[in-house]
Amino acid sequence: MDLPKPITGPAQRIILHVDMDAFFAAIEMREHPEMKGRPVIVGADPKDGKGRGVVSTASYEARIFGVHSAMPISKAFELCPGGVFVRPHFDLYVQVSRDVMEIAKSAAERFEQVSIDEAYLDISMTGDYTSARAMAAALKEAIRNKTGLTCSIGVGPSKVVAKIASDYRKPDGLTVVEPGSVSGFLSSLPVGKIPGVGKKSRGMLHQLGVRTIGDLSRIDVQELTALFGKWGAVIHSLSLGTDDREVRQEEGYKSISREITFENDTDKKTLLVRTLDDMAMELHAVLVNEHLRFRTITVKVRDEHFLTRTRSRTFERFCDDPSLIRETSHGLLPGFPEGRKIRLIGLRLSGFEPKGGRQTTITEFIR
Ligand SMILES: [Mg+2]
Repeated sequence: MDLPKPITGPAQRIILHVDMDAFFAAIEMREHPEMKGRPVIVGADPKDGKGRGVVSTASYEARIFGVHSAMPISKAFELCPGGVFVRPHFDLYVQVSRDVMEIAKSAAERFEQVSIDEAYLDISMTGDYTSARAMAAALKEAIRNKTGLTCSIGVGPSKVVAKIASDYRKPDGLTVVEPGSVSGFLSSLPVGKIPGVGKKSRGMLHQLGVRTIGDLSRIDVQELTALFGKWGAVIHSLSLGTDDREVRQEEGYKSISREITFENDTDKKTLLVRTLDDMAMELHAVLVNEHLRFRTITVKVRDEHFLTRTRSRTFERFCDDPSLIRETSHGLLPGFPEGRKIRLIGLRLSGFEPKGGRQTTITEFIR
């Protein structure tokens, strides 16, 4: 007997999130095998506990001591005085990142790099989750062969599910969440697993009795918007795994940026300035590697009341000078409300010169 063919709906989305494991620390350990197995902390100079600035990346061995990224470097020193403290080598990290991203890009229908060590891939073309899992395993293998480094991968029907899944089994993890098991997967996870829910919002949610993502999904969204504004509605729909953001393929960079949420809200100007300096170094390494020059610098600051402000400056000429990035970003800082503590700081460069600069090439004449 012939059964009627099922009516096929629109092809299901399959999204993959790839995240390198303790990226900067793993590269340092690859370069310096004597660091293997030791707590490696990449970030600001600890200066015997008197250093300013933050931790960029901590190796898994350092995380056992409670050290993690965005923590003040002085606190990391206190927790782990015997750790191997390393200043970042962004040039190298950017080169390794390029290798990783090239491999990832070639595996996807659409590819979106979201940071130096993270990307989303739309792999809907694999057709089903069994094939998607096989492709994810192959991607991990290819990245390891090329770079000697491990990554963790999450696969799911939306960006947020893929991202939470990539974080689920780290390091060297692979977690596949099929559409039918999204709520089962999310519901028992702590609410802090939702991207963007940090220590502070977690504390506020705990006061409402919300501890798991499942708790969050069951709470009245108006209670959340009263607390967090629009962002409350965003985290509520994320808690349901609902996230229709597409993987946005972009040709070339429109902007490059870096942001850090501090472990504790801060009003220490030196910490803000040092953090901007580190982000400037990292972004400058990307500029150099990608042969980019920019015109606009933007500093973003979110304060303790979740109010976000940005200030920008656009230059008349394209530039790529690291000290200009640093000084300009410092200059953009003081316009923010005095007396309020800062929870997040970000730096963005944009307005890039078209690749190849102003040189007229033969193809321009053909067009
Ligand atoms: Mg990572």
